[in-house]
Amino acid sequence: MPPKILISACLLGRPVRYDGKGKPLHDPLIERWKAEGLLVGYCPEQAGGLPTPRPPAEIEGGMNGEDVLAGRARVLEVTGGDVTAEFVEGGKKAVAFANEQNCRFALLIDCSPSCGSGFIYDGSFSGTRHPGFGVTAALMRAAGISVFSDRQIDQLFASLGEYAVASGP
Ligand code: SF4
Repeated sequence: MPPKILISACLLGRPVRYDGKGKPLHDPLIERWKAEGLLVGYCPEQAGGLPTPRPPAEIEGGMNGEDVLAGRARVLEVTGGDVTAEFVEGGKKAVAFANEQNCRFALLIDCSPSCGSGFIYDGSFSGTRHPGFGVTAALMRAAGISVFSDRQIDQLFASLGEYAVASGP
């Protein structure tokens, strides 16, 4: 069975974001992978029990997902609510779901405190980004799942090909 790709549900256009909207990724490869049945959508924040819509949240202090998992940083809503536990719970559920579905790859939207897989916001709610990973992206990397951002779709395509060659006929 070919490995599947766990994709941020909002990239499929599902209305799961904090603002109640989706953010569909329009790319021929997405349409191809959909037709091949390779994409499995998942929203870690909803899985962690957060409602939609919900206040925007960021990882505090310019830290990243690894810092949250190590207890060095919290995930805070713009309103001040501490949603760290929900983010960690949702991330763990996403990894468990990925393993159940044979997802060896993940395509996650950048800049989210959950799915961010290259850049995330710095916790100041000022629109300032820095290199780093969100909580779910960090958990997936730790679990051995190859994580790509929505700006790395060509790299994901190449990795799928390398995986197929390494796995043999
Ligand atoms: Fe999209 Fe991930 Fe945020 Fe859910 S948690 S809305 S899938 S970026």
